[in-house]
Amino acid sequence: MRKNIRVIRNTDTIVAFDQRTEGHVYLSDGDIAFDEDGFIHVGGRYDGHFDEEISGKGKMVLPGLVNVHCHSGEEPISKGLFEDAGTAALWGNALYEYSNLIEISPDALGASLTVMLGDLLRSGVTTLIDIAAPHDAWLPTLAKSGARAYVAPGFREASWHVEQSRRLDFIWDKGRGREAFARALEVVDSAREHPSGRLGGIVSPSQIETCSAELLQDAAEAARARRVPITVHAAQTMAEHEELLRRTGLTAVQYLDALGLLADDLIIGHCIFVDSHAWTRQRTELDLALLAERRASVAHCPVTFARSGMVLQSLGRYRRSGVNVALGTDSYPFNMLEEMRQAIICARIAGGSVFDVETSGVLEAATLAGARALGRQDIGRLARGAKADFFLVDLKHAAMQPVYDPLRNLLHCAAERAIDAVYVDGALVVEKGRPTNLDYQGALRQLQEAQDFAVRRLGANDPARRSSATLAPRSLPSM
Ligand SMILES: [Zn+2]
Repeated sequence: MRKNIRVIRNTDTIVAFDQRTEGHVYLSDGDIAFDEDGFIHVGGRYDGHFDEEISGKGKMVLPGLVNVHCHSGEEPISKGLFEDAGTAALWGNALYEYSNLIEISPDALGASLTVMLGDLLRSGVTTLIDIAAPHDAWLPTLAKSGARAYVAPGFREASWHVEQSRRLDFIWDKGRGREAFARALEVVDSAREHPSGRLGGIVSPSQIETCSAELLQDAAEAARARRVPITVHAAQTMAEHEELLRRTGLTAVQYLDALGLLADDLIIGHCIFVDSHAWTRQRTELDLALLAERRASVAHCPVTFARSGMVLQSLGRYRRSGVNVALGTDSYPFNMLEEMRQAIICARIAGGSVFDVETSGVLEAATLAGARALGRQDIGRLARGAKADFFLVDLKHAAMQPVYDPLRNLLHCAAERAIDAVYVDGALVVEKGRPTNLDYQGALRQLQEAQDFAVRRLGANDPARRSSATLAPRSLPSM
């Protein structure tokens, strides 16, 4: 069958992959040619056959971004509820007492996923890992969106219970955890066999402290038998860090190593509270070197944590230690370019220096490091033979003007406003800011109903039976 070859001609700026340095470089006034199988050409003048020509004048072409950690599920309907909330006695974290209360009705899950996908695609994401509970609309919606997507169906044996806003308890049900594990593996397998060829699966024990050592090890074995990555939340809060110390005497990183999980197929979300973090009571500095030595990856999602006053110390320090830090958005706003900007800002505050991380370093984290975490060399780069996953930025957009260094303008100022088009496998998935394959507007309307329902259910889901108004007071009083 003859392929439809398109060429983007005389592009002002191409962020191309340089085989020699294995990094991104600016290439001026070049061409890219691609079809549904991948890039045929990235460089100077393309003289081969083509079916369609697009002008690249006034444009910058970048590799599609790789988001290694996000959650559809109830995250998109949590917007606006708990940004000012937290459990004071649990280092101010809102995860255990508040996020836990949000309930989404099964028929809203498709809309929630659609909105997340639309927002991610519009911000230049072409590959993502969605960590969520399985549901019927999951694989069909991911496939329909046109994105390259990995499902990471979560499973765990313990749930969280916060007693009197001061103590985190764990309620264990190992039978349920095992059932969810078996179901997760079925979903991982069906994603890998999906006819679109763009879906994949990841084995995802939800959190390090809600799974027994046996389950974590069985999960790793199941992932390795399938040659798929493993992802688990670990070192994500101080409450978890303290709990692991109490149970094992080890930090999360050291415990994962003791269990045999710390390896190049492991993606740790979010790996903040390592032994060198100032909040922990450790006085050692072993974890970063161990992470680097075992070549495990970190899914760094600065925005959600910064909102609660928490920060990785620091992105630059992890990178200089040799840790593969990839980026994710975790929860809303599901805007990868804003996440990248915050990654730079958080790194420079945490590192106490403008030199902590460079703009180019954050692009590397959002592309090549993400690809590495997934064990792939064919995404996150504009190079002949790689998948045709990329996006076009309008250099004439007001937010991009004036242009001296277009990457800095994009990350520090313009973000998704300047994105013209996004392609996955050479197919247009976003055109003029709108997802082409999804009913984004329809999903938005459903999301409001889903949030109204969630707010009504807050009190019923709260063990202390507080009202919605007490749990989630609005930011201003009503007149
Ligand atoms: Zn997460």
